[in-house]
Amino acid sequence: MGAVRNIGVGAGMHLAAAGAPPGIADQDIGEELEELEAVSRNLETHTLSTNTRRAYDQGWRSFESFCHLHVLEPLPAHPEVVRWYVAWMSTQTDTWGSPRFAMATIRQHLAAVADRHLRQGCLDPTGHKAVSDLVRGLAKLRAARPSRKRPLLLDDVTRIVAAMEHDSYPAGAAATRDAAAIWLGFAGAMRRSEAASLALNSLELHQADGIHVHVGASKADQDNTGPDVVVLPYGSTPATCAPCAVHRWIALLQISSITDMRARRRESMRQLFAYQLDDHVCGVGSHAGLISSHDLASPAPLLRATYRNRKDARIHGGPISGDALHTMLLARMTEAAMDPRAYGFHSLRAGHVTQARRNGASTEEIMRAGRWQKAETVNVYDREFNPAARNSVMRLGL
Ligand SMILES: [Zn+2]
Repeated sequence: MGAVRNIGVGAGMHLAAAGAPPGIADQDIGEELEELEAVSRNLETHTLSTNTRRAYDQGWRSFESFCHLHVLEPLPAHPEVVRWYVAWMSTQTDTWGSPRFAMATIRQHLAAVADRHLRQGCLDPTGHKAVSDLVRGLAKLRAARPSRKRPLLLDDVTRIVAAMEHDSYPAGAAATRDAAAIWLGFAGAMRRSEAASLALNSLELHQADGIHVHVGASKADQDNTGPDVVVLPYGSTPATCAPCAVHRWIALLQISSITDMRARRRESMRQLFAYQLDDHVCGVGSHAGLISSHDLASPAPLLRATYRNRKDARIHGGPISGDALHTMLLARMTEAAMDPRAYGFHSLRAGHVTQARRNGASTEEIMRAGRWQKAETVNVYDREFNPAARNSVMRLGL
């Protein structure tokens, strides 16, 4: 029987609930039934893929804990209970105010509830019209209000970067990376997947322009973006200079390859303590930059995970994830005493468009920077964030 219990968690729970077949006197019949039980369990495990079974199990656990929390009967559940469960899922948000349960997840959890009821020979409460009406209504509401991220303007970005602890160790290591990532997102109007997948050799130092960034073809989407070159221009001040942030981070990356811990710490500290927002380190004008073209020959990832304890900071060899960039930005906003709800890494790209438009950029210029082929996409940003842009109300002489 030990083997039977290992067939899928769902089957195991079923078995535990049913208990051993009661009072079978004839040993042969008992053994035969046991065999048949094992065969049927084995067949059950083949009707659903491992992933589906895992998802159903997770969905059922979620429903069960909702019921326990609200002192409701999970099995069999009244359709009203399932409606409350859907309503409850629709109101749950994560730390940053985004919905915790996507529509697909809500549907999957309901499928799990249906599956468990049907397996137990109960009526499926999720098939009730009141439940399906609620789910359809919720899907419509979610579709009508896509959670588009609000833009971060230049003042916001400089505030976020200025709030970081740049000139200390080990905190300064992550701050240096985060400043570079944020300027890539804002100045480069980059998506988080684009920023996360940059390699050192995606960058090219350019004496006149600052830094050229070769952005690969990102996944095909409605924006029609192909491989292209993004320009990170020298800032008018070091505090708004994207190349400076990139130079500082790559210089730190190089120090991180020193294997001797004491030497690495000493060198990292030396560089971080020399952090000066008053001086360009990007090579603008006649000064030498912190890094040279020679340092950009490697295909190693540009933005990487960092680890730290109280004394030491390590920079990982692998690339940072897009999710981590998103979370990083929200955490940095919180540190800068800003409310991060309704923001995400995409807020930097949206912020680029919005700030540029407010400063008088043409649609063509914005299409160039955002690597859009359709003017319509730029118009979407205008409608959402820049109602005054190209609006005749501004020409009434009021
Ligand atoms: Zn600079």
